[in-house]
Amino acid sequence: FLSMREVHKSFAGNEVLKGVSLEMERGQVVCVIGPSGSGKSTFLRCINRLETIDAGLIAIEGDPIGAEVRGGRLHAAPDKKIRAQREQIGMVFQSFNLFPHMTVLENIIEAPIGVRGEKKADAVAHALQLLARVGLAEKRDAYPKQLSGGQQQRVAIARALAMRPKLLLFDEPTSALDPEMVGEVLGVMRDLAAEHTTMIVVTHEMGFAREVADRLIFMDGGHIVEDGDPREIMANPQHPRTRAFLESVL
Ligand code: ATP
Ligand code: MG
Repeated sequence: FLSMREVHKSFAGNEVLKGVSLEMERGQVVCVIGPSGSGKSTFLRCINRLETIDAGLIAIEGDPIGAEVRGGRLHAAPDKKIRAQREQIGMVFQSFNLFPHMTVLENIIEAPIGVRGEKKADAVAHALQLLARVGLAEKRDAYPKQLSGGQQQRVAIARALAMRPKLLLFDEPTSALDPEMVGEVLGVMRDLAAEHTTMIVVTHEMGFAREVADRLIFMDGGHIVEDGDPREIMANPQHPRTRAFLESVL
């Protein structure tokens, strides 16, 4: 489903991804852990092309991200194609990023109507379904600032789902939350996983990673250092750097 081959990414000469390769199947939940600065956010941002890559290939369902094959060779894709690809990948950030001047419902229907061209009635019906799914049906007319952090993050998840993405990326979705709100957001993500939503989750929530992820990836220094079954890695890390990291967080 998602294929990354030897992906390299530098910022001003500082190589942040040093040849990252990954094959991921549809319906899989992959958690990514690793120290600060190891390249986790950059890894996610390259997948939905918030960053362009310097070398390598990222493809979803065989379709290269940000590129297209013409005359047997890979060329940069036109903006239109890049936008279309990005629409298929939902992203949830640490800092919810809701539009402050829009209600919850308006936040959710904005892109389906403006970008996907859905009819308003359809977009609203879908949004209400999604709000019910994240347990916030009664908040449809609230503004973001009237909601708790956990509620805002659940709206952000509903907003991402409204675009009917093939892949959902989460970048430390609970790191900005007060501890008592972490559980409600992880609960929504757990439900998504149970429905076989394809997701990549950068997180420090080791309990979530152990119980929900099909696969755990440990990143360090721009490399995938370890990749496998979460319980096995946590119980028996193969690489000393994984062991040291796990000792610091578990
Ligand atoms: P954290 O756990 O703190 O979120 P991370 O693993 O997500 O860290 P990244 O945000 O991917 O790490 O950053 C990896 C490295 O790339 C860091 O050294 C960072 O300073 C650098 N970096 C990231 N984005 C940029 C950018 N836009 N311009 C320059 N350097 C960047
Ligand atoms: Mg990060």
